[in-house]
Amino acid sequence: MDLYEYQAKDLFAAHGVPVLPGNVASTPEEASAIAADLGTTVVVKAQVKTGGRGKAGGVKLAESPEDTKVKAEAILGLDIKGHIVHRVLVTPASDIAEEYYFSFLLDRANRTFLAMASVEGGMDIEEVAVSKPEALAKVLIDPIKGVDKAKADEIVALAKFPAEVADQVSEVIVKLWVTFVAEDATLVEVNPLVRDPQGKIIALDGKVTLDENADFRHPAHAELVDKAAENELEAKAKAKGLNYVKLDGQVGIIGNGAGLVMSTLDVVAYAGEQHNNVKPANFLDIGGGASAEVMANGLEIILGDPDVKSVFVNVFGGITACDAVANGIVAALGILGDEATKPLVVRLDGNNVEEGRRILAEANHPLVTVVDTMDNAADKAAELAAAGA
Ligand code: GDP
Ligand code: MN
Repeated sequence: MDLYEYQAKDLFAAHGVPVLPGNVASTPEEASAIAADLGTTVVVKAQVKTGGRGKAGGVKLAESPEDTKVKAEAILGLDIKGHIVHRVLVTPASDIAEEYYFSFLLDRANRTFLAMASVEGGMDIEEVAVSKPEALAKVLIDPIKGVDKAKADEIVALAKFPAEVADQVSEVIVKLWVTFVAEDATLVEVNPLVRDPQGKIIALDGKVTLDENADFRHPAHAELVDKAAENELEAKAKAKGLNYVKLDGQVGIIGNGAGLVMSTLDVVAYAGEQHNNVKPANFLDIGGGASAEVMANGLEIILGDPDVKSVFVNVFGGITACDAVANGIVAALGILGDEATKPLVVRLDGNNVEEGRRILAEANHPLVTVVDTMDNAADKAAELAAAGA
């Protein structure tokens, strides 16, 4: 989960990383009131989960509360790379002597963590990495040893931070590492990390990505979820403990096991090429125990998606045998009653498949078509979706 700048800086503050105070506003009047409280020149910053806000006109200085209102009016509602600005952060304007770059991230290619630092911060770091790679220091971090003062000093020396700020930057780096570990982040980025004219180091911007697999360790992170921006179906699925991802096609997909569901998406996309280019509408892995309740919950989510025109249930019976899955499907259709309105193509294979198919044949539900192979079932589901679209 990506955080907004103000949330990232709240986490920084909680771990002792120097940031400036501030508050978020969703109207120009609120922004103006925050500026009045701060009693100083402020910066009004668009809160959107994308970079390059500065260049897009989403970061503006304001001299007074009245000016803050004007600047907030200009920023609220802006479209920055497809992200509409609903809130702005109002924070004291800092004078900047120098802008640096620093980040910790999960480096998947090297299967470890990576620190990146540069004294050429502020602008696009991607550009620095390409045009002046020697200006971006990269240091692999041993996840067991982590980052102590000595390691931070090594990074600071490699990136050639000025001697006057080296020690201070090292201390900030150690605190950013503490933040990274304590919050289970996969990215902590500060661009710019600034030196103000008095020589103080401040994190002026913050970007944090949290590892959702660690959510169970962080009950407080639930409050960081932007409910308004969350996909409604995904939120509903999450509440029911389902592994669901909304996609933009028309064929609803239910399967057991992430690998089988992934390949189901592929065969449906391929079959769709022959049927008006219909595509999978979602990823949904109902896991090992395909009980009637789980099946009903899954079907309810998928049928609640107005884009869905047909549903492909692709189950390989293992520990949960096909007869149990077939009973689950029949019971789920019973539970859903009139809510079940779209054709279902079911492909069962594996443990107890004969009994499973017998149960579905006996139930003879008008919406259900049983197809024996995965390819033929994908083709049928795509055909039905194209006919219903
Ligand atoms: P981004 O463009 O989305 O990364 O947003 P940033 O928070 O990094 O802001 C972009 C640029 O605006 C920074 O690199 C600074 O040059 C400038 N900026 C941001 N905050 C301040 C501030 O408090 N004072 C001054 N003078 N400039 C600021
Ligand atoms: Mn930035």
